[in-house]
Amino acid sequence: GARLRGKRLFVTGASGGLGAHFATLAARHGAAVVVGARRRARLDALVADLGGLGAAAAVAVDLDVADEVSVAAALSAAEDAVGPLDVVVNNAGIGGEGRAAVETAASDFDAVMATNLRGVWLVATEAARRWRAAGRGGTIVNIASILGLRVAGHVAPYCVSKAGVVQMTKTLALEWARHGIRVNALAPGYIETDINAGFLASEAGQALLKRIPMRRAGTPDDLDGPFLLLATDASAWMTGSVVTVDGGHLV
Ligand code: NAD
Repeated sequence: GARLRGKRLFVTGASGGLGAHFATLAARHGAAVVVGARRRARLDALVADLGGLGAAAAVAVDLDVADEVSVAAALSAAEDAVGPLDVVVNNAGIGGEGRAAVETAASDFDAVMATNLRGVWLVATEAARRWRAAGRGGTIVNIASILGLRVAGHVAPYCVSKAGVVQMTKTLALEWARHGIRVNALAPGYIETDINAGFLASEAGQALLKRIPMRRAGTPDDLDGPFLLLATDASAWMTGSVVTVDGGHLV
């Protein structure tokens, strides 16, 4: 964690859930944190908290990861506020409507791909262009999911998008390694956050927890160590890696 002190970190989709958690963690370790999301009111509240936790700086920027104009503007605003970024965390993601494939509207498929896949692509390539133009390296942490490595029913677009994030992590790592840009992915299992609180409380959710070797869902805190590993030079010789954090779910 100490390795994050003074580093400049950008987190997408930080208005709640894991994004707000990672931003808070980085602030506690003395990083300068820029948070981006579409829900600006919640971002401003988060930024007020981060300052009190010891962040070197805390800044909110408007961001829709699916929109390249918004992504470029957000990264410019971030650099104007704190200077060149060191770490970019691609956290923004949506689950989709959760229907059988034959009942999934094309518009739902498109929305999931736009945020989860196009969004990661736009933010990563925009950050890398800036790092390369400045002759700097950087670190990218993509938040994938175990559902990019195995699948579950009725969330096909989500599974496909997260599998894409896994391949994107590897291909960008390959292209950018010689430029000092590392790209790794964190692949969480089921974590207790708002997006799956309802599911985890359901009968199906309870049955699923029994199939996890460690017999429980994760908490956001369970991701802290692996996140800090990938976000800092503790992982200096790691790139293109996908780190699962899932209580043994994938064994
Ligand atoms: P969440 O819904 O609480 O957070 C997602 C965030 O992304 C929200 O703040 C939302 O506003 C933001 N967002 C959505 N679309 C956006 C867009 N176009 N532009 C900018 N921001 C946008 O969910 P979460 O559980 O915190 O999920 C965070 C990430 O972790 C997601 O990528 C998710 O797929 C992944 N993940 C979560 C779990 C889990 O169990 N919670 C497991 C594996 C992976």
